[in-house]
Amino acid sequence: MKAVLDHIGIAVKDLAAALAFYRDALGLEIEGAEEVASQRVRAHFIPVGESKLELLEPTAPDSTIAKYVDKRGPGLHHITLRVDDITSALATLKQRGARLIDETPRPGAEGALVAFIHPSSAHGVLVELKQRLVDGHQSVVVSPGSPATDHRPPAASAVNRFALGNLELVSLFDGFLRLDGGAMFGVVPKTLWAKQAPPDDRNRILLGMRPLVVRGARTMLIDAGLGDKNDPKFHDIYGVDRSRNLDHTLAEAGLAPEDIDIVLATHLHFDHAGGFTTRDANGRLRPKFPRAQYVVRRGEWDDARQANERTRASYLVDNFLPLADAGVLQLVDDDQTIMPGVRVKRTGGHTMHHQMAVIESAGKTAAFVADLVPTTAHLPDPWIMGYDLYPMDTLASKKAFYKDAIEKDILVFFEHDPAVAAGHLREEQGKRRLIPAAPTS
Ligand SMILES: [Zn+2]
Ligand SMILES: [Zn+2]
Repeated sequence: MKAVLDHIGIAVKDLAAALAFYRDALGLEIEGAEEVASQRVRAHFIPVGESKLELLEPTAPDSTIAKYVDKRGPGLHHITLRVDDITSALATLKQRGARLIDETPRPGAEGALVAFIHPSSAHGVLVELKQRLVDGHQSVVVSPGSPATDHRPPAASAVNRFALGNLELVSLFDGFLRLDGGAMFGVVPKTLWAKQAPPDDRNRILLGMRPLVVRGARTMLIDAGLGDKNDPKFHDIYGVDRSRNLDHTLAEAGLAPEDIDIVLATHLHFDHAGGFTTRDANGRLRPKFPRAQYVVRRGEWDDARQANERTRASYLVDNFLPLADAGVLQLVDDDQTIMPGVRVKRTGGHTMHHQMAVIESAGKTAAFVADLVPTTAHLPDPWIMGYDLYPMDTLASKKAFYKDAIEKDILVFFEHDPAVAAGHLREEQGKRRLIPAAPTS
């Protein structure tokens, strides 16, 4: 693991006195304060070379920092190390018996992901891990002809490989998009969801798009992300960042579009089916994967073709009608095996015929649940998207799935999570939690 010192947190009792030392006596510059409402703390950053000092000023007597100062006095509070892949760092630490305060990364300031490690495992120091995510503010624009930048895609957008029995599962990435946080969490109050998924200034939360490749007897792609047919206005509305996308990650997985034998659709919403088609040099629409049969559930196909006022914005016909024209569409009516080891199972809820993929090999099971549980923040039973057409069906399907997932130790893939590709569910003392899975390479 490579880590960089990001900052050192210092708990402050008297801000004026602290400033008199750090700013006035040492002559350092204060960058301006950032209020972290959920922690009831104000953070004042002081750049020192590549790293920063962070003066932590409690804004309420019950804040963690206020309690810390009461108990132990002001002083060194934590150090923060920046890593490329926080999920695999946590998995490694856990494997080696470290005591983690956060088992899964959670959103921190500036859209970064953070997780704390208990001081008892870090020789008396509270250690925070941090991983930056690409977002609208941080993504690098490469102008034509300019030398390649040193921009390295964050691991959040990486290719993650998992072995499952005799199959190989490769989680790909088609970029980030942003959707309204309220719509993403339905009846859950913003005060709750904003802690799990901090909204931007347009109230949108960051989501990833993670299609999955299954390599076995044949090579299957499940969903294909947003694709490349959308215009700048669409990209602005949905905060799309495809600076790293399916083309890049497919290539990194050692695959070309011609290598895909089967494309399986969980449903036909644009963030899942957008990558099914592309435009050729003449602007004509064609299937993106030239050798593939595209498998779609018949009910979903019919609903997408006969969209109504409520569903129309999600079904863009350019994503799926060309499949029928090209003769590569295969409609399936029921739950069934699509290739050895992969079967589909209807969940309903999100759309009437939304389906998940269940992948089985040599006694091991994985599930690609798509919009049944789009992110790890959606794990609690009632955290159901406002977009869902039949939320009570989502609830029933989630409960049934969780029971199965815990009993069979299913590897669960989260198609829209901004950071976590997959993990295992655990239930301990009635509490459910997720252990992110460490990729095999
Ligand atoms: Zn959907
Ligand atoms: Zn979706």
